[in-house]
Amino acid sequence: MPSTFDPELRRALSDRIRYYRDLGIYDFYRREVTPISMAKATEATRDERKPTESGRSALLEASDSASGLRLIREDIGDCTRCRLHKQGRKQIVFGVGNPRAELMFIGEAPGADEDEQGEPFVGRAGQLLNNMIKAMGLRREEIYIANIIKCRPPGNRTPERDECETCSPFLMRQIEVIGPKAIVALGAVAAKTLLAINAPMSELRGRWYDFRGTKLAVTYHPAYLLRDPRQKKEAWKDLQMVMKELGLKPPEKSVEPTS
Ligand code: URA
Repeated sequence: MPSTFDPELRRALSDRIRYYRDLGIYDFYRREVTPISMAKATEATRDERKPTESGRSALLEASDSASGLRLIREDIGDCTRCRLHKQGRKQIVFGVGNPRAELMFIGEAPGADEDEQGEPFVGRAGQLLNNMIKAMGLRREEIYIANIIKCRPPGNRTPERDECETCSPFLMRQIEVIGPKAIVALGAVAAKTLLAINAPMSELRGRWYDFRGTKLAVTYHPAYLLRDPRQKKEAWKDLQMVMKELGLKPPEKSVEPTS
């Protein structure tokens, strides 16, 4: 098989994959039987090859998800689907983390730091999110972090509804590929877009929702917590609910995130 496809063949393949996905088929294998890939396969640790519940190896599942995410990123391309592409965004902020994460955090939109670095939650709000993740006994690399929209709105304004509608199908595909056990929506924009409910944060948080078969919890956005640190106690309650669901114990010294 050629290592690069001509654009028409690539489009046809994308269409075919989407068609299979609509039928509920998500997993595809492209095996290159070369001495190198054989060597790689034998390098896999015994643990990685242990069959999972679905009977497939953890190694294959991880690479399926990673290539699924790569395909979504390729589909997005240098996106011009909404007005944000001509309103000063520097780059698309796709998402970051473990392609097989059990937990996904979903924020609103990239800010200036994220636009600069191409990674979600790397600014001040990101620092607090990192502390929240640590307090849960997790590492940032273990989870997956994304936003409702992938381009920075000018002046960090709230994303418009049509921008969310245009961009969120890509997020839906990311969620499908990753298959997390739980999703945490950070803030009102993420919660309202994912749940299609218009209610204040005080009503949205503190309970589980069913989001296309995945458990979804809502908590305050870290940027809001930076403005009103008194709400951190409440956010910590939300995160503890998530930890309970995932069977996580906080690290020995863990207290609610304070900075
Ligand atoms: N706020 C968000 O909602 N997302 C980011 O990536 C950064 C700040």
